[in-house]
Amino acid sequence: MVRNFVLVFMLLSALCTSATLADDQSLLGYSAEGARIEHDWEGKFRAIPSPDNQRDYMKRLSAHPHHVGSPYDKDNAEWLLGKMKEWGLDAHIENFEVLFPTPKERVLELVEPAKFKPSLHEPPIEVDPTSNQQADQLPTYNAYSADGDVTAPLVYVNYGVPEDYEKLERLGVSVNGAIVIARYGESWRGIKPKVAAEHGAVGCIIYSDPHDDGYFEDNVFPEGPMRNKNGVQRGSVMDMPTYPGDPLTPGVGSVAGAKRLNLKDVTTLTKIPVLPISSGDAQPLLSALKGPMAPESWRGSLAMTYHVGPGSAKVHLVVKSNWDMKRLYDVIVKIPGSVYPDEWIVRGNHHDAWVNGAEDPIAGTVAELEEARSFAELLKQGWKPKRTIIYCLWDGEEPGLLGSTEWAETHADELRQHAAVYINTDGNGRGFLEVNGSHTLEKSSKSDDDRKEINVLISGSRPWVQARITPFSSITWELPQ
Ligand SMILES: [Zn+2]
Repeated sequence: MVRNFVLVFMLLSALCTSATLADDQSLLGYSAEGARIEHDWEGKFRAIPSPDNQRDYMKRLSAHPHHVGSPYDKDNAEWLLGKMKEWGLDAHIENFEVLFPTPKERVLELVEPAKFKPSLHEPPIEVDPTSNQQADQLPTYNAYSADGDVTAPLVYVNYGVPEDYEKLERLGVSVNGAIVIARYGESWRGIKPKVAAEHGAVGCIIYSDPHDDGYFEDNVFPEGPMRNKNGVQRGSVMDMPTYPGDPLTPGVGSVAGAKRLNLKDVTTLTKIPVLPISSGDAQPLLSALKGPMAPESWRGSLAMTYHVGPGSAKVHLVVKSNWDMKRLYDVIVKIPGSVYPDEWIVRGNHHDAWVNGAEDPIAGTVAELEEARSFAELLKQGWKPKRTIIYCLWDGEEPGLLGSTEWAETHADELRQHAAVYINTDGNGRGFLEVNGSHTLEKSSKSDDDRKEINVLISGSRPWVQARITPFSSITWELPQ
């Protein structure tokens, strides 16, 4: 974990476009003496981060559910602020007021041909004490689903992406007026209800098939890491391609006094009600489907025959939310640059989670926190960054990039003038580094030959490693020992 964050950070100082592999001592863009000094500071930097500290931060930050608007979300932000200040860094909290719906009513029942009522509940697991903090957890739901109360035939739509509807059409099955049941995976979850509504569906259920993240992949929790049959994936279904952030304030920061849309004029909520469920809850619904056999690639790993539907299976779905405003707490830290203070390197991750968030985002947040402490220590030793570094620990990432979007909208003029690069981390794992690059990086290519590839030198280990990343897609490679 330590290695990961060092490497990720070093991307900022080492991003370059040479096709030649640097040797052990030279650094592209540095004189021999400059390289020696840089290596010296990097060595001092790498000596500072402590796994024990990160373990302690992890326990503290994931001790209770800390979704947007919860007491522990605010508490965590204030604790993060206190840490940054304790280390001598210039830190403050910026608040925004945003629309964040929470469940008011959730009903799902199979009404025909037989009655079945899914539990819509994740029971606690004994070996995981925080799973017992049920009173502090948000119920399982998809945030920014439209309110609705519908009863309709059920149709299985595989992953619910456009090609799946083309296949349904060839099978002679329409979802017009139906409730669709889609499985998680292949697409971002918000696409599923959007495409379903475009095809005339009146409701959408999203379930986790064990084929995609359950026992088919590995042992399930607590024996292994995969989702068990009671696990439900919470998540946002906000139409973020239209615009991310607070639905009420597109394009402007949701500060006090900002002009806000009326809820009825918001365009980023789903058009139909959506609810996520576990595979245990989904199986009786899917088993009730008749009609054509599901195409082979649509069949998951539940012990049943997969049909597309509709047949006589009819479902009643109710989703209603409390459409409340909640306060966000973004923690912002500034380390002034010594040579180019007007060029900002912005470094972010979020601190909010859907539940306790030990993996997402705290596994990344603790590393970023220890990284900031390490810089604070280097500053005391006389190091100064050439450019200004801005640390941002966002609130409200999970529901729809709320904290980062509202901050960027509020500071848009300054960011246009000063922001040089933004480096984000979400969760950290072990053994592999995965990087997504933005389109802008493509311009870094030097010649026609390497236009499609960007070469990244990573100085976090010896010898230097050269990896090639293709912009626009995720890359993964094994880190050197
Ligand atoms: Zn995350």
